[in-house]
Amino acid sequence: MKNKFFIKTFGCQMNISDSERIETVLLSAKFKKVNSENLADFVIVNSCSVRQAAENRAISTLKNAKKNKQVAIVTGCSAVKEKLRFKNFADFVLDIKDLQKWPDIILNKNTLQQDLGSLNYLKFQPKYQTKFHAYVPIMTGCNNFCSYCVVPYSRGREVSRSVKEIIKEVKSLIKQGYKAITLLGQNVNSYSGKFNNQKIDFPALLKIINDIDGDFWIWFVTSHPKDMSLKLIKTIKNCKRVCHYIHLPAQAGNDVILKKMNRKYTHAKYLKLVKSIKKYLPDACLSTDIIVGFPGETKKQFLDTCKLFKEVKYDMAFLAKYSPRPGTISFKMKDDILQDEKKRRENFLNDILRKTALKNNKKYLGKTCEILVEKKDIGRTRTFKLVKFNSDKDLIGKIVNVKITKAMAWILQGEIKN
Ligand code: SAH
Ligand code: SF4
Repeated sequence: MKNKFFIKTFGCQMNISDSERIETVLLSAKFKKVNSENLADFVIVNSCSVRQAAENRAISTLKNAKKNKQVAIVTGCSAVKEKLRFKNFADFVLDIKDLQKWPDIILNKNTLQQDLGSLNYLKFQPKYQTKFHAYVPIMTGCNNFCSYCVVPYSRGREVSRSVKEIIKEVKSLIKQGYKAITLLGQNVNSYSGKFNNQKIDFPALLKIINDIDGDFWIWFVTSHPKDMSLKLIKTIKNCKRVCHYIHLPAQAGNDVILKKMNRKYTHAKYLKLVKSIKKYLPDACLSTDIIVGFPGETKKQFLDTCKLFKEVKYDMAFLAKYSPRPGTISFKMKDDILQDEKKRRENFLNDILRKTALKNNKKYLGKTCEILVEKKDIGRTRTFKLVKFNSDKDLIGKIVNVKITKAMAWILQGEIKN
């Protein structure tokens, strides 16, 4: 009987989290998971449509599966957005919100898809990737329509998960011994739920989760700068389990480009926000997402992004070359910055980042901090810094103290203290 499946996941944490639920549903329908594409009867591609390169890789995985006479299944952002086009590469193009129906559909027992609602599938208990750090979606979708971005089209409008369901998932994770929870949403600051007849915004949700009994850390992504409030910053300060790591995508540092991107803040406003964060959370680490070479971005405009990098002194940045996405507003603008120039700008920012990250990391020298051990000899601080150490013991999934002895730009080195 054909029942072996393999999932290949592209893109963001939300896709990773979705794949964890796909696994649960297929396993409970008596499918078997295999760890190699070649051994699978069903190759499932969880696609990402944010950049062309990721989409191309998804398509080639599907083509390969078809060539090998395997059943090629595609889901995720590309599949939802371009169902018809993806039918050319896959046997099934499935929407994650219909997850409950997948086993029947795949086994050709049911081809009728009914609307189950976009949050229904979150009720499945995921097969989390680790036993110590779990992703917990709190909302999906996006209403912001940044001009370059496909997410509002592929994931649809914002919908928040119920407070009750989120608490239930977090409590069960804590009970199982999980040490860190990352709350996920395209824009966590738009969270809007209800609890005991009260409206719950994101700071209120953080407080509720923070007050759950147990020993665990809370991270969250992503915060849109236009919606990040002083109330949230103060809540982070007052909630001891919420870690001081903030991912705050700037995308660009020039006001004209920011306006063309429809980001709804200026360089000055972003910087003001960073100053408040640093005032209330002096030890906070900051990371960002940047798109270089947006249509029409001049060298002079790009220098404003470099300026922002020097002003903020980021710890980490995810740099992307602008990639035109069909259906978005900026797709109609001419993608006029050459690939080489985009690469040059990326390298330029990376050079500034390496210096600021190294300088920030040097502040850890001689200090003792807690790390959550992720691999045999690598852990992560509450501020999301990687720390390498030597130990013969198996400490994976434990929180231990390390004294930092060496600082490099992308990683720290330390000695175990207990
Ligand atoms: N909700 C998050 C981002 C989600 S998409 C936010 O508002 O910041 C993840 C990242 O992909 C974005 O931050 C952006 O830097 C990048 N990205 C999105 N669309 C892109 C495009 N068309 N070309 C290049 N990078 C893109
Ligand atoms: Fe995309 Fe902007 Fe929404 Fe982020 S906020 S997902 S970049 S549209």
